[in-house]
Amino acid sequence: MISAKDPVCGMTVFREQAMTAAYEGRTWYFCSELCRRSFLADPERYLGAREPSEIVSPSARRIAYFTMEAALDPAMPTYSGGLGVLAGDTLRSCADLKIPVVGVSLLYWKGYFEQKLDEWGNQQEHPVTWEPGGPLRLLPVTVSLTIEGRTVVVQAWQYEPVGVTGGRLPVLLLDTNRPENAPEDRELTFWLYGGDERYRLAQEIVLGIGGVRMLQALGYTEIDRFHMNEGHAALLTLQLLRDATPVGSTEWDFAAVRRRCVFTTHTPVPAGHDQFAYDLVRCVMGDLLPLEVLQMLGGRDRLNMTLLGFNMSTHINGVAKRHGEVSQEMFPGYAIDSITNGIHSVAWTSEPFRQLYDRAIPGWRTDPFSLRYAISLSNQDIWDAHVQAKTRLLDEVRRRTQRQLNLDAFTIGFARRATLYKRADLLLSAPHELIETVKQVGALQILFAGKAHPKDEPGKEMIRRVVQAAKQLERDVTILYLDNYELLLARLMTAGVDLWLNTPQRPLEASGTSGMKAAHNGVPSLSVLDGWWLEGHIEGVTGWSIGSRTMAQKPDQPEEARELYQKLRWTIMPMYYRSRDHWIDVMRQTIALNASFFNTHRMVQQYAANAYV
Ligand SMILES: *Cc1c(COP(=O)(O)O)cnc(C)c1O
Repeated sequence: MISAKDPVCGMTVFREQAMTAAYEGRTWYFCSELCRRSFLADPERYLGAREPSEIVSPSARRIAYFTMEAALDPAMPTYSGGLGVLAGDTLRSCADLKIPVVGVSLLYWKGYFEQKLDEWGNQQEHPVTWEPGGPLRLLPVTVSLTIEGRTVVVQAWQYEPVGVTGGRLPVLLLDTNRPENAPEDRELTFWLYGGDERYRLAQEIVLGIGGVRMLQALGYTEIDRFHMNEGHAALLTLQLLRDATPVGSTEWDFAAVRRRCVFTTHTPVPAGHDQFAYDLVRCVMGDLLPLEVLQMLGGRDRLNMTLLGFNMSTHINGVAKRHGEVSQEMFPGYAIDSITNGIHSVAWTSEPFRQLYDRAIPGWRTDPFSLRYAISLSNQDIWDAHVQAKTRLLDEVRRRTQRQLNLDAFTIGFARRATLYKRADLLLSAPHELIETVKQVGALQILFAGKAHPKDEPGKEMIRRVVQAAKQLERDVTILYLDNYELLLARLMTAGVDLWLNTPQRPLEASGTSGMKAAHNGVPSLSVLDGWWLEGHIEGVTGWSIGSRTMAQKPDQPEEARELYQKLRWTIMPMYYRSRDHWIDVMRQTIALNASFFNTHRMVQQYAANAYV
């Protein structure tokens, strides 16, 4: 039998038994469906890395990045939305820049969920089925924990994002699905954001406490920074505190832990912060630490994971300038910095723009700051790349919906988690405005996508409202709500529409990142001035605003809708249809000013300079 090397995991496979895929006129062979799907999602990533995974030395790692979710690979359902995408992009940029990080997260055998919408917009949720394996390597080490008095054995799968420079980085995905565990404990790493409070707390114990123990067991002995990506990971501080304190002593060495911890908050509302009743904590976690110590660190009445993270960290930051300020007002007793989010430039740049940048801005893949030089790209090159990206999106829309959209029609994209404050329906709140605009200016198409959390009834209702409004507008505006928003669809949408829309209720958008993805593909934003857009927006230069810049003015929804419609009718669509050169100027400025800055290369360098040192 003839063998071949799986380009994803490096394993040798027999061709006759392998899964195959055609790419660039060649047949590629894979050990598993997971490897095949990973490859097809991003062939380029694997073509530079055909050697089998080298050992990434644990003792060389200095920083541990803990996150409840991480979008590492389109074939692995280990994320739900923006937080996970940010974590994945962060780890990828660390691999590129060879920053000595190890990632820690959970595996999720059943993922988040697969979304199907019926014709009325009712969301159906299906479990995702996948088999870890392929690029995931099960490590031969286990650690144990106590949850509700039972011993729970935890194992870890290692995934290694490969950087564009060939740098590698280990990510440990913790897993309790082992035969010696009780059935309810085996399920602790099945669902992302599923289950009740007890389940959630148990997952956070696996992540925080199990994660620290796993790092120790694997020989990560030189970690001097523990970075908590949101409060879900804050229990790690308790394990570090136990480790820093001699057995039997009650002289807790808080300072020793605080020196080593860094905390990033992502939520500008108190209700968004995880909190657990102490009765539940006692019942699930046992007496890892005395109650008085927990109360001192995490709040008197309930264990607030954000407060715990804050109290045990030497550096705390929000994820955009405004978000840092809002967080500082919420927590006046702490010094809160801000490090504005980014996205991974290569991962989110569509193939047509990658090729254009490769030709015109060599080096941009390792140095996305040089996207600044996009300012001298020609109109023709930008427009050609955009038309190709738009064609790819419309092809995928046809494949999914059997609907052929018009390549020449102005197309708006709106896709993100379907939760109330994101206000997906604002654009459709006064349908006659859109009809009038189409009559006066030209054709309009709108693509929506986004999952509502299974328990978020108002979010599901919002999807139904969008789908209903789309029906009413059917004759005048083509509006589609696409199923199952995930990484691959996000890539196509952020690159292939003409305008990226964002209408969150201020000040609830901590950062937002999808507009940064669009910017890498020359797609300008029309957005409420919140989160990153306060930093990226220059009116008429990088896109357009909705509402005011100052917080003093209370946002007024009908007023915001009016402004949204007016900008579309009088500024944006006329520019698109009648002064195409001017439109392309905005596209070019969007890349040069925003893609060059709102990327994770800049972001992780700020973490390295301001938080990790
Ligand atoms: C980027 C991304 C998000 C985050 O979008 P925001 O507009 O920043 O909320 C959510 N889901 C997926 C799949 C993404 O790729």
